[in-house]
Amino acid sequence: MKEVLIIKYGEIILKGLNRHLFEDRLLKNIRYKLKGMGEFKITKFQAAVYVESDDPAFDYDEALERISKVFGILYICKAACCDKEIEAIKKQALACYEEAYLPGKSFKVEVKRPDKKFPLKSPEVQREVGEYIFSKHFNNARVDVKNPDITVMVEIREEGAYVYASKIQGPGGLPLGINGKCALMLSGGIDSPVAGYMISKRGVDLIGVHFHSYPYTSERAREKVIKLAEILSDYTGRIELYVVPFTDIQLLINEKAQNDMLVLLMRRYMMRITERIAKLHGAKAIVTGESLGQVASQTIESMTVTNDVVEMPVFRPLIGMDKEEITKISRKIGTFETSILPYEDCCTVFVPKHPKTKPQLEEIRNEELKLEGIDELVEKAIEETERLIVNIGGK
Ligand code: ATP
Ligand code: MG
Repeated sequence: MKEVLIIKYGEIILKGLNRHLFEDRLLKNIRYKLKGMGEFKITKFQAAVYVESDDPAFDYDEALERISKVFGILYICKAACCDKEIEAIKKQALACYEEAYLPGKSFKVEVKRPDKKFPLKSPEVQREVGEYIFSKHFNNARVDVKNPDITVMVEIREEGAYVYASKIQGPGGLPLGINGKCALMLSGGIDSPVAGYMISKRGVDLIGVHFHSYPYTSERAREKVIKLAEILSDYTGRIELYVVPFTDIQLLINEKAQNDMLVLLMRRYMMRITERIAKLHGAKAIVTGESLGQVASQTIESMTVTNDVVEMPVFRPLIGMDKEEITKISRKIGTFETSILPYEDCCTVFVPKHPKTKPQLEEIRNEELKLEGIDELVEKAIEETERLIVNIGGK
């Protein structure tokens, strides 16, 4: 029996004249994700994308698993394709119902008939198929047309009849690449990979910027960040990861500045360097994993101080989320286990005991005047930045 994946998209449907741009991008991203899986055909028809293959080696379950990570997709159905003939449709619908059935679950049958040449109208097919399923399972089948647990879908198209009863949730959002590129400040923590996922879900390509303070932070801490970028790239596609040596800048700040301002000064330099790297590589905004009030450097006043040094917009997709909500997403996307590995981050190496929570912009700016020679160190750090390409997206 021939199978087909039917992919439904969400928000793209709302796009007016630009809709085809979004659809083309989605098709391209799906095709990319299925690279190396053998021959397959991908077509677009009435707000859905169809993936099918004549290659016996084409693994539909693997394809489904890969496609479930493509942004822009609302859900995916694995459908069976049968003859456009009512008896065959009934049998196939019954098989799909039985596969999806769990005790107590109600069902309904829904029919679409883009092929108007098919002799029966949609309500007639619906009735015949519904009655057939019911007749085979009259002991436990329960029809609920308003709020069914199982919807047995029948689509009658030129090429054949497609029947399915279960769907897999996609990640939603918009296709990658449709909204330009951002620079994600990626640490080894729980938050920043989630922030990268959230912003990427809005159709954004990512570059990553990571600051490390070797030898105060270890080689393993650096590898942890690369691993996080790798996991993320399964959703976001290729990530260019820029690893910035930050030790000299941190040491200078540590030596010259007042202790309670260390973190903010450090963060201002991170922002400046990230913006420079972003501009060099076509990214138009900075993304961080900050959440309001989570730590001293994430108060409104602290964020005013860090925003002060950059012109680019700074996106903080987690700003209104609790740690629990963030952790839930981190588990879902698979970064959590790596994030909690206990390696030090450069922010935690030089933490003051009592950081300022309500810094004044002027005092921070004045404190920066004490950092003689820091501009040269910034240039040196950018020059010595290492570039890595991380991508497990295409597999
Ligand atoms: P995370 O869990 O993402 O590490 P956090 O709760 O530990 O966040 P901070 O350490 O204050 O919070 O960092 C806030 C944000 O600053 C991070 O989400 C990240 O975007 C950025 N950041 C922190 N440390 C680094 C680093 N070493 N390299 C790049 N960005 C960093
Ligand atoms: Mg951190």
